[in-house]
Amino acid sequence: MNAAWTIDGVREALGTKKISARELASDFYKRIAERNQELNAYLTLSEERAYLQADRIDGLVAAGKVLPPLAGVPIAIKDVISTRGVRTTCGSKILENYIPPYDATAVERLEAAGAVMLGKTNCDEFAMGSSTENSAYGPVRNPESTDRVPGGSSGGSAAAVAAGLAVASLGTDTGGSIRQPGSFCGIPAMMGSYGRVSRYGLIAFASSLDRIGPFATSTRDVAAVMGVIAGRDTNDSTSTTAPVPDYRAAMGKPVKGLRIGIPKEYFGAGMDEGVRKKIEAGIAVFEKLGCELREIHMAHTDYAIATYYIIATAEASSNLARYDGVRYGLRVEADSLLAMYRKTRGAGFGAEVKRRIVLGTYVLSAGYYDAFYLKGQRVRALIAQDFREAFSKVDVLVTPTSPVPPFLLGERTSDPLQMYLADIYTVTGSLAGVPGISVPCGKICGKLPVGLQIFGPAFGEARVLLLADAFEQAGGASV
Ligand code: GLN
Repeated sequence: MNAAWTIDGVREALGTKKISARELASDFYKRIAERNQELNAYLTLSEERAYLQADRIDGLVAAGKVLPPLAGVPIAIKDVISTRGVRTTCGSKILENYIPPYDATAVERLEAAGAVMLGKTNCDEFAMGSSTENSAYGPVRNPESTDRVPGGSSGGSAAAVAAGLAVASLGTDTGGSIRQPGSFCGIPAMMGSYGRVSRYGLIAFASSLDRIGPFATSTRDVAAVMGVIAGRDTNDSTSTTAPVPDYRAAMGKPVKGLRIGIPKEYFGAGMDEGVRKKIEAGIAVFEKLGCELREIHMAHTDYAIATYYIIATAEASSNLARYDGVRYGLRVEADSLLAMYRKTRGAGFGAEVKRRIVLGTYVLSAGYYDAFYLKGQRVRALIAQDFREAFSKVDVLVTPTSPVPPFLLGERTSDPLQMYLADIYTVTGSLAGVPGISVPCGKICGKLPVGLQIFGPAFGEARVLLLADAFEQAGGASV
């Protein structure tokens, strides 16, 4: 089977009857059977649902109907996104047997556009992590280098696409969980602006930061998926009514003269020298394309990690209160109600989730709220202001996605702070609500992928995609 299927390739093959949607799905399931044991990218396969949808698409082909934009495209969905009738665990024991009664809007839209959902992908428990080692179902391996992590928390979605076990996938990004695994697995991965994609059906981690977005093997495919899932949804009051541009049509235009800001705070201590060299080579690609480079200053960058871990844990402690043994998932019986709560949560949640519930409860508690949570909100506003000021001077910002290349499995698990620092370049954009993409930017020693991050102003997805595509077309992936 061709591992390098693209959305256009699938459309062409279906249209000319080289392959049926059913055969394509079945080829992907064969590949999954061969590789998933090693990679652990998929937690649950949804064959029945996939073949039902594939047959519907084959029916459209047979009837000579116009095919919807993602007809027959095999996709994978991160296991924090609800799927009706298909187990959704959030990588947690507490939801081991949870079967949602409804679909997330993003999933519904992908299927309405003809996509074939192959299954649900592994992730850090409740999307808390940067390596997918916090999953209750075992870590995912990086397909590019199997002794290393695929990044996280959407490691399964990134690994599935990078290994050719899906053509595209959905992940979620709260502080970097789409962009960083995209970087580690060497594929493009995008987080749209906050409010661009409906969160309805996304099981909440930190509601003011959570976003759903795509992984694919090319920027064009990322744009195609983004175009399908974006847009207002009355089930999510934070989703925007701003119209969704045709992202693909916006690509391919000249980028000469566009102003690229290089924030010097993103090239500081702690950055791997190999990563630095690749990013510098990536920036030279933009220069060759005729873009104008400007060094800029984003004063509050240093506070982003601390601010993120106050706000995200505060929101998580509140969102995760619902797992009480009564309403969802696991229940461990005990003599009293309080003991039942304790035992259920004690047995159901893993160490990182517990750590965050404790931290989040602490920063929200009386006497500490003003000192931590409120101050965190104020610094968040300053970080957002940095971005607004930057975008009054430049069109996009270019930074590394991660300060380090993919690390070894187990290398950072004993030190949570080291793990948190993996997100130093991604959490800023999360706090500011702006869109960001990570695109492949060469490999260190020929095997460790590096990602280059492009941030745009709020709802400037089209511009971000235009530049990402130009970079890819100019050979940026192999600098
Ligand atoms: N790694 C970050 C965290 O652990 C971000 C996670 C995410 O974006 N879901 O919170």
